[in-house]
Amino acid sequence: MSVMQNYVDDVLALVKQRDPDQPEFYNTVREVFTSIIPFLEKNPQYKAEKMLERMIEPERIVTFRVVWQDDKNETHINRGYRVQMNSAIGPYKGGLRFHPSVNLSILKFLAFEQVFKNSLTSLPIGGGKGGSDFDPKGKSDNEVMKFCQAFMTELYRHIGPHVDVPAGDIGVGGREIGYLFGQYKRIRDAYDSAVLTGKGLTYGGSLTRTEATGYGLLYFVKNMLDEKGISLQGKVVSVSGSGNVATYAIQKAQEFGAKVVTCSDSDGYVYDPDGIDINTVKDIKEGHRGRIKEYIQTHPNAEYHEGCRGVWSVKCDIALPCATQGELDLESAKHLVDNGCKVVAEGANMPSTLDAIDYFLQNKILFGPAKAANAGGVAVSALEMSQNSERLSWTFEEVDNKLKDIMANIYRNAKKNAIDFGDPDNLVMGANIAGFKKVAEAMEAQGLV
Ligand code: NDP
Repeated sequence: MSVMQNYVDDVLALVKQRDPDQPEFYNTVREVFTSIIPFLEKNPQYKAEKMLERMIEPERIVTFRVVWQDDKNETHINRGYRVQMNSAIGPYKGGLRFHPSVNLSILKFLAFEQVFKNSLTSLPIGGGKGGSDFDPKGKSDNEVMKFCQAFMTELYRHIGPHVDVPAGDIGVGGREIGYLFGQYKRIRDAYDSAVLTGKGLTYGGSLTRTEATGYGLLYFVKNMLDEKGISLQGKVVSVSGSGNVATYAIQKAQEFGAKVVTCSDSDGYVYDPDGIDINTVKDIKEGHRGRIKEYIQTHPNAEYHEGCRGVWSVKCDIALPCATQGELDLESAKHLVDNGCKVVAEGANMPSTLDAIDYFLQNKILFGPAKAANAGGVAVSALEMSQNSERLSWTFEEVDNKLKDIMANIYRNAKKNAIDFGDPDNLVMGANIAGFKKVAEAMEAQGLV
């Protein structure tokens, strides 16, 4: 075993020993560090500088009590978090997630991923993530507002335009960002537009931010396919999820001439052989926050199946997991490959399990890893910060064109590193090395941080 393989194994053992109850965090550290061994071998100084040990330790973690009252005046207590992982290349940047499954392991995994993803965008943003175990499902607007206000009443002291700039994620969309911004402004008594991104267009939001992650995913896929001389026209695409990322991935895939046949939520999935009607999905999800099973009420040819994992048993050319982490396991990967799927690109964060990723790579599937393929959202968030600083609003086309360029750059950077380190189609390795390089160099330049 090589020296660097041993080094990575030692660091992984350290993660397990220090945080034995954080499997999601362990898995993402393993995925990133195992894949950059060829790079570490050429840069042995990082072992001497204990760079990996530094990177696994968040710069700061804040956890706090969030107390709020529902419409019946009953009091609830949730747990709030912010993980400020790494500020080597800019202020912490990363979303807030409101979902009952939220815990420190999940937020540390997301924050760790975010560090390298943000580095890949080539924009000056560090990595963080936060959220709460609050479940917005079934809550009234008033209850969501009360929760957001209570959450920000503590979070405000840890964030700021030059410190930490949160955005949305699962369970945090435009509505929640609005309530969070209102409370921040009230407490600070200052109009710091760039303290949050994903804002509404009337108060400092950027055009294209809503669409950015889904559109960016398809721009990334197009770059992967263009290089192989394959067109998206007429391809059958399977998408999971029906939230922000899934919706705009479906829309852009259709604009590129593909036929998207599935979407899902945590209860089950819809298969529509005629192609998913995106307006119906938007009506259900954005219009009245309903469940995806309602889709078949207006589309008699479509089928609804209970259980979201079945979505990967549908025959397709391209699979785009856009729901959540761990939703595509080895069994699902085998179904996809057996059914002739040739391309998988991740809209969600770490939707594929590590064994599923290995299986895709072994079977020569063109695989676009999350930190590269879904970086469009955070990239446009950084563009939102730039517009806020300039006190200007760019047009939809301007932002969309910048997004296209950024996704093409990310693809080229990941591909170049994959080639340079001897495995040309391994974009997992290429993206991890490209992201790691810049952060490690910045940390090295800043001394003992
Ligand atoms: P949304 O809350 O808008 O949508 C999430 C979707 O995933 C919903 O359809 C939801 O269904 C489904 N889902 C959530 N949890 C589960 C689960 N445990 N099992 C199955 N389905 C589930 O979130 P986003 O679209 O913003 O985020 C989706 C993914 O993309 C996440 O991994 C997020 O981290 C990642 N991401 C998001 C970015 C953004 O800009 N928004 C940027 C980069 C990555 P249900 O309604 O039933 O919960």
